[in-house]
Amino acid sequence: MISLAENKERIALLTSGGDASGMNAAIRAVTRYSIYNNYEVIGFYEGYKGLINNNFDILNLNSVSGIIDRGGTILYSARSEEFKTEDGQKKAIENLKKNNVEKLIVIGGDGTFRGAHDLHKKGIKAIGIPATIDNDIAGTDYSIGFDTALNVIIDIMSKIRDTASSHDRLFVIEVMGRQSGVIAVNAGVASAADYILIPEVDFDLVKIANEIRNHRKGKRHTLVIVAEGVGKANDIASSIKLLAGHEVRVSVLGHIQRGGSPSAMDRILAARLGQKAVDALMDGKSDAMVGYQGKEIKIIDFEYIFKYKRKIDKNLYDLAFILSL
Ligand code: ATP
Repeated sequence: MISLAENKERIALLTSGGDASGMNAAIRAVTRYSIYNNYEVIGFYEGYKGLINNNFDILNLNSVSGIIDRGGTILYSARSEEFKTEDGQKKAIENLKKNNVEKLIVIGGDGTFRGAHDLHKKGIKAIGIPATIDNDIAGTDYSIGFDTALNVIIDIMSKIRDTASSHDRLFVIEVMGRQSGVIAVNAGVASAADYILIPEVDFDLVKIANEIRNHRKGKRHTLVIVAEGVGKANDIASSIKLLAGHEVRVSVLGHIQRGGSPSAMDRILAARLGQKAVDALMDGKSDAMVGYQGKEIKIIDFEYIFKYKRKIDKNLYDLAFILSL
C-alpha cells in the first residue's frame, strides 16, 4: 500500500458510468484545486470497482499534467454491480476508512450519484460532478461531455450532408439517447436536420415518408436524426424506403460520440465545477451535486436530482422543424 502524507486531509476522486470528454479536465481541476487548498488527492481507478478493490494512486500536480485536452478518463471507468450490494459498499467504506478518506468527489451521471448517496448515508462526505454526454441530469444546464459530443456529431453531419447533396440522398443518422432526445434535438438544430425522431415525442412515419416522396422539402439532401431510444436506425430506414420509395442510407454514430478532445466549453465547465466541488466539501457539504445554472455554479441536493429528470426543450424541438422547412 502506498504511504500517505501525514497531517493532510484527503479527498478521494473517481470517475464512473459512461466516459465523457472533459472528465480529465475535471480530474485536473479537482486535483490541482485540492492541492492548492492543502489537501492530498487519492484517485481510485475504475469507479466504484476501484473502491472495492482498493485500487488507487496518489494524484500530484504532475499526475494531471498534459491531460486537459484528452478525451476519456485517466482514472478509467467501470460499471460495478457489486457496488450496488450491501457487501460491496461495506468493502468500499472499509477501504476509504483504511486510507483515512472521509471526503469523496465522484464524476459521472445519475447512477454514479446514487452510489455517492449510499456512501453519504454510511458516513462519507460525497459530492458529485455531472459528466455524461446525455445531458439528462436535472439541476444543471450542462453536463461535462455534452458540448463535445454535440460538436463531434455536427462535424459528422456536415460530412454526411456533403455526400448526401452530391448524390441526392436521404440519410438516417442514429445518435445516442436511449431514454432522452436531448442530444438528438440539439444536434438536429445545430446541423439543420430535416427530421428529429426522439422517444419523448410521437411521430408519424407515414406522414414523414409522404413529405419525402412528394417534394423532399426541395432539397437534394434529407437528414433524419434518430435518438437510439426510438428504435434501430436500420429499421426506420427500411420503413421510410418502403413508404417513400426512396433509397435511404444509414449511419449509426455509436461510440465515436464519446471520444475526442473536449471543447473549450467542456474544459471551462470542468474547471468551474471541479473548483465548486472542492469548495463544497471544504464547507462540510455532502449528498449533493455541483451544477451550472444560468451563469452560476450551484449546489443541488441529490434528492432533487433523483426526483426530476431533465426534459427536452420543446421550443427548440419545434424551432428545428420551422427552420428546416
Ligand atoms: P451514464 O449517464 O453515463 O450512464 P451513470 O453514472 O448514470 O452514467 P451507471 O452505469 O448508471 O452510469 O452508474 C455507474 C455506477 O454507479 C454503477 O456501475 C454502480 O456501481 C453505481 N450505481 C448505479 N446505480 C446505483 C444505485 N442505485 N445504488 C448504488 N450504486 C449505484
